[in-house]
Amino acid sequence: MNKLKKKSKNSRKQQILFLTVLFITILSFFYKNNFTNLVQISEKRFEKMMRDSEVEKITLVTNKKIVKIRLNQEALAKEHYKKELQSRGKKKKYHYAFKVPAAVVFNKNYKLLESQLSPSQKIGYFTEEEIDYTDFFANWGFFILFVLGFWMLSRRMSSGGSAGGIFNIGKSKAILFDEQNQVNVKFEDVAGMKEAKEEVQEIVDFLKYPEKYADMGGYIPTGILLVGEPGTGKTLLAKAVAGESNVPFFYLSGSDFIEMFVGVGSSRVRDLFKRAKEKAPCIIFIDEIDSIGKSRGNTTFEGGNEERDNTLNSLLVEMDGFTPTTGIIILAATNRPETLDSALLRPGRFDRQVSIDKPNIVEREELFKIYVGKRNKVHVNVKEEILAQQTPGFTGAEIANVCNEAALIAARKNKNNIEMEDFQDAIDREIGGLEKKTKIISKKERKIVAYHEAGHAVAGWFLENANPIVKVSIIPRGIAALGYAQYLPKEQFLYQKEQLLDEMGMALGGRAAEEIIFGKISTGALSDLEKVTQIAYNMIGVYGMSEAIGNISFYNSKKNYSFTKPYSEDTAKMIDEEVKKVVSSIYNRTKKLLLEKKKELEELAQALLQKEVLFKSDVENLIGKRNFEEEESNLNSTDKRVDK
Ligand code: ADP
Repeated sequence: MNKLKKKSKNSRKQQILFLTVLFITILSFFYKNNFTNLVQISEKRFEKMMRDSEVEKITLVTNKKIVKIRLNQEALAKEHYKKELQSRGKKKKYHYAFKVPAAVVFNKNYKLLESQLSPSQKIGYFTEEEIDYTDFFANWGFFILFVLGFWMLSRRMSSGGSAGGIFNIGKSKAILFDEQNQVNVKFEDVAGMKEAKEEVQEIVDFLKYPEKYADMGGYIPTGILLVGEPGTGKTLLAKAVAGESNVPFFYLSGSDFIEMFVGVGSSRVRDLFKRAKEKAPCIIFIDEIDSIGKSRGNTTFEGGNEERDNTLNSLLVEMDGFTPTTGIIILAATNRPETLDSALLRPGRFDRQVSIDKPNIVEREELFKIYVGKRNKVHVNVKEEILAQQTPGFTGAEIANVCNEAALIAARKNKNNIEMEDFQDAIDREIGGLEKKTKIISKKERKIVAYHEAGHAVAGWFLENANPIVKVSIIPRGIAALGYAQYLPKEQFLYQKEQLLDEMGMALGGRAAEEIIFGKISTGALSDLEKVTQIAYNMIGVYGMSEAIGNISFYNSKKNYSFTKPYSEDTAKMIDEEVKKVVSSIYNRTKKLLLEKKKELEELAQALLQKEVLFKSDVENLIGKRNFEEEESNLNSTDKRVDK
């Protein structure tokens, strides 16, 4: 870091120097053509000077409308001129100046004056000139532009990384955390991730006691791939490994390798490993490794990317050069491991994968405890357990954000401490965006939204395989959402056909309710229809769940893009027809259900219109408990299902 500071200081010095030179150049140019250093007089006085035969030369600067006057030696010897010009230096080309309304006017006046003068009073030295800026810029402009361009380029190169200046372009942009700038994250700061922590514990041990492993001839993986969605704490975990083992930590993102110049990526990789070897034992953390590690076969339609491939090759070569005693561990993060080049996942490279999932309810509670605990003014009514229940599908980053947002909301309201309602507001904001108090919704629209959301809630309540509701709201938020229903999804990896159908049924509940109550449908169901269509096409074309198509899947895990569809026109027609059939039959089923449960629908919609937000407990109070047994799966959640 010190190095970093020094570098940025140096480049600041260079900037100041450059700007000073530029400023002086421009200043001197203007000074050269500046008239303010001449004594300004009136035209009348000039005429008197002429009549007194005191003028040696005059110059009319046509484009500046100024006349400059040089006095002769006799005049300069006169006492009053001496006094007047005293402070302006003796050896001057011109001494006085005056402004004229226009060059032609002066020429006319001057001719008239000349005609009145005796031959001895006349001067033979009247010139006209024009200040030629183009001349100046023809001589210097290119140079100035060149210097300016060079400077800007070098600044661009240096921004955002330690590689300062254009000469350092091949240097890696990794940020180093070492003795001076220590990582102080420990495992206890990382909530949940029990299995992931156990996996990386071995690395901590290896970095702490490398000899132990060397003695045994043990082999420790040099590369570990942390797989998980953004915000699930991959960087935090990598930092915790460095913090626990007390070793230097290099942080950089995959895209930091890539520059517009060929060969830069490879040289940055080499530089990174050179720096890392000097600091070993240490950890290199490469975030978003997919930006350089994408499978090479997948780029056919990107026109190939040689620079990226070369960078990847260099990375592979460097990793192959490791021996178990090198003492460098590379952690890399991605949320799309399937896109990575298989060469990257071979033994000796990133052969171990640690998957980091979104936190389950217990982990979310832990997360809330960490981030609520960091704030010292929290009201006693804040219950982390309840907050965890209301945030299915949230990542660690989102929960950290909610806690921060809650503090801001409380501060904005000038409260003494953060209360539960501030956290709830923050959660709503995280899900749906900013509350739009000013968004004017007509009473009619509000009613439609209330029945639409109640339709989802009732459908979900009475469909056995649908996800239970956590919260329904009709407060307009964000850009598009007029209301939303939030569900608690089960953690599951296999979906049965019935589940998919019920999920579609719940999504169509909104539109069905609108049709039943108002006899008309609205555009509010857009995102529901999008979801339903997607599920239907996947059921039929990907999961082989229709009788007409049979057990056939058009999914291609290799993802080698092709312009032609992998099925015939006839099949395409059949798929479309099947999708239509499924969706319309589910819609009719949902409509039938809602007609049967119209009383419940009315009750929920009216309650929504009154209270705007209903939680699961409110729904239970209004229309009774859900009949289906909810499995223990509530513990987990894989997705934040928000239906806007
Ligand atoms: P990723 O690298 O997976 O995108 P980060 O590690 O950058 O995610 O997480 C962003 C922030 O979210 C962290 O700085 C931390 O504040 C918070 N966070 C995420 N997961 C956790 C967790 N398990 N425990 C504590 N904080 C977390």
